[in-house]
Amino acid sequence: QALAAVAAAKPAQRRSRQAQVRWGSRLVTIGGGAPVRVQSMTNTDTVDVIGTAIQVKELAIAGSEMVRITVNTPEAAEAVPHIRAQLDRMGIDTPLVGDFHYNGHRLLTEFPAMAQALSKYRINPGNVGKGDKKDRQFAMMVEAAMKYDKVVRIGVNWGSLDAELLAELMDENATRAEPWDAQQVMYQALIQSALTSASYAAELGLNPDNIIISCKVSGVQDLISVYRALSERCDYALHLGLTEAGMGTKGTVASAAALSILLQEGIGDTIRVSLTPQPGEARTQEVVVALEILQALGLRAFNPSVTACPGCGRTTSTTFQELAKQIDDYLRAQMPVWRAKYPGVENLKVAVMGCIVNGPGESKHADIGISLPGNGEAPAAPVFIDGEKALTLRGDNIANEFHALVESYIEK
Ligand code: SF4
Repeated sequence: QALAAVAAAKPAQRRSRQAQVRWGSRLVTIGGGAPVRVQSMTNTDTVDVIGTAIQVKELAIAGSEMVRITVNTPEAAEAVPHIRAQLDRMGIDTPLVGDFHYNGHRLLTEFPAMAQALSKYRINPGNVGKGDKKDRQFAMMVEAAMKYDKVVRIGVNWGSLDAELLAELMDENATRAEPWDAQQVMYQALIQSALTSASYAAELGLNPDNIIISCKVSGVQDLISVYRALSERCDYALHLGLTEAGMGTKGTVASAAALSILLQEGIGDTIRVSLTPQPGEARTQEVVVALEILQALGLRAFNPSVTACPGCGRTTSTTFQELAKQIDDYLRAQMPVWRAKYPGVENLKVAVMGCIVNGPGESKHADIGISLPGNGEAPAAPVFIDGEKALTLRGDNIANEFHALVESYIEK
């Protein structure tokens, strides 16, 4: 029973429709049993064709399977096909997603080459016109998606929530005799805005498979509540992300906490980690964090993993930390070549441990592992391969010799 309970703890993905995002021969499936996809967004001025194409390439190489670019002006719309062509010349077929606010209906109608060069449109119902204009402007964007056969993300954000809808729901609740919670009304408005827009898009003729929904908020508990409710009310594929997560450790931890809880419940078909880069920090960091979240949860594997103990008073030298870092850096650096050469290499597990307490045990669980000698231990480092003790390294060259053993293990 205990073992069955452990097995049941593995996440089962929520059943959803599957959206297919394409560029050329590249197909990215979202939802409907596909692996959870990673996406990100540029922070360049879209008018800067070369700068934007370079950043899209960097994000794609880091592991982003779709990259969103803002399309906010006629000049930006004009630049989009040139960015696409530049990427194609660089051999990058990662689909581009256009982010539209306020004027998307005009841009998508007036710039057909832009509408065609994008693979997916993000529409924010919170800033599409007002009154009757809202329906017409929304319809113009959906019509463009149907004309060019593109996927649409209806992306609601509580920073730009439909003010009319929120006021309407607040008014309705104001007359209720029983106590009500303004926060709950806000959640309801977010979900209603997304689902009403999705129904309208489907009524206009957009294939519901081509609709993805997101309802982003910036609080961890708020995000969890909203997505739990949203996932029960529809079968659209869901884009998951904690909006404005913040900088550095705070943004990373908040995103990991929120996304992991939902992903563990099977909620979320594609994710973005919205980190604010710190001065000098690469934009690609948000992709690295997204990949690590999925790999840590066992949902996908992107890079070999290196297990290392934190070290303690039993190891006063930094040898094992240096070796762990060296092996980790080496494995990651080789991956662009290895991925094609050694299928499945991303599942490799290496252990680099600091002493005999947990060293041999942890090494046995890895594909290849080493237990370096701690203080007062004999100067010997047993190496385990496929769970068995294979040999013992001694002397001053242990790090290089283990490195060579890892290389030859991968080749074999
Ligand atoms: Fe300390 Fe050894 Fe445990 Fe590493 S394996 S944390 S060195 S006791």
